[in-house]
Amino acid sequence: MNIAMKFLCHQAMAAIGKKTFRFPFGAYFYLTFRCNMRCSYCDGGSGESFPEMVSSEITPGEWRRVMAAVRPHTDVLLLSGGEPLVYDGFREVVADARKMGFSFISLNTNGLLLEPAITESLDAIIVSLDSLDRKKSDLLWNRSGATDRVLRTLEMLSGRAQPSVMVNSVILPENIPDVEEVLNFCIKHGFTFSAGPALDRTRPVPGLSGNPDFQKLIRKIIAAKRAGHRIAATVDYLKSVSRFRSFDCHPLLVWRVYPDGSLVYPCSRQNRTIGSLVSGENPETLFRTAAGGEFFINDCREACPLSCYMDTSFMIQRPLGLLREGFFRLRSFSSGHRLLY
Ligand code: SF4
Ligand code: SF4
Repeated sequence: MNIAMKFLCHQAMAAIGKKTFRFPFGAYFYLTFRCNMRCSYCDGGSGESFPEMVSSEITPGEWRRVMAAVRPHTDVLLLSGGEPLVYDGFREVVADARKMGFSFISLNTNGLLLEPAITESLDAIIVSLDSLDRKKSDLLWNRSGATDRVLRTLEMLSGRAQPSVMVNSVILPENIPDVEEVLNFCIKHGFTFSAGPALDRTRPVPGLSGNPDFQKLIRKIIAAKRAGHRIAATVDYLKSVSRFRSFDCHPLLVWRVYPDGSLVYPCSRQNRTIGSLVSGENPETLFRTAAGGEFFINDCREACPLSCYMDTSFMIQRPLGLLREGFFRLRSFSSGHRLLY
């Protein structure tokens, strides 16, 4: 099944099952917190940026044990970091994941170390791009020449059937017009586009909330989605994020494992873990123990405006929004577009 449709089916089943639903859509493996960039807005959720978060890293052999614990619950693997490509055993992890039956593998990357051999082994790639203005973007990323390199990589990926490419922009008060240019760039090249606000822990950075230019940008993204372009977020998410409305969070719709093999609970924003999957512990048992019998928690009022938490939570709470998203995806699918998630 197409991955976008698979995601919708997962969300529909989660909506029906609510608290008894036990299967994640996929699992994020944070292979490392290290990174070869130093983005000004980088936020690992704990108040530190990813490159400053210290964690031991397990070997590819130990990731195999983590995969064995996760695979009975999902066949979707989302590789993330930090920058996952600075992890030496990256290729080994991907090859092992294929052998263990993961049918969909995606990579979140800043794009600096992407090579054709790596892209060919993946189903989807999510690349960061916050501005087409090389000078401005290099400053945001604190790395001279990085934007030129990422743009050349995107050029290499443009027009290829495999892997699917999503470009993700982090929205700051100073790059709002640039994100609109990135949106237009994605429409032109046929990439899926996503964007979300820069955060300071769980809240948007100062200058975004109530900013009319930010709200206008979000309206443009919604209009692009309604016009049939490939926008990853739902209309419900985009509308809510423009006003930073609160919501009931269901953080376990996707599971997360940190570089040392520990299982995250309830979310990466709270930066807490509940046990190691390297030692063969059952993730389901760990979650049940941590949550006191309930699989989902609904009592967190932080309302983090991140699509990976907010959007997935909306989908299982708002059947009409889910149906509308199904319509958008069917239209995108029937027009030959391959939408990511
Ligand atoms: S590329 Fe990502 S992980 Fe690396 S510094 Fe930038 S935001 Fe942080
Ligand atoms: S709103 Fe969700 S993602 Fe944010 S801290 Fe609460 S549980 Fe975590």
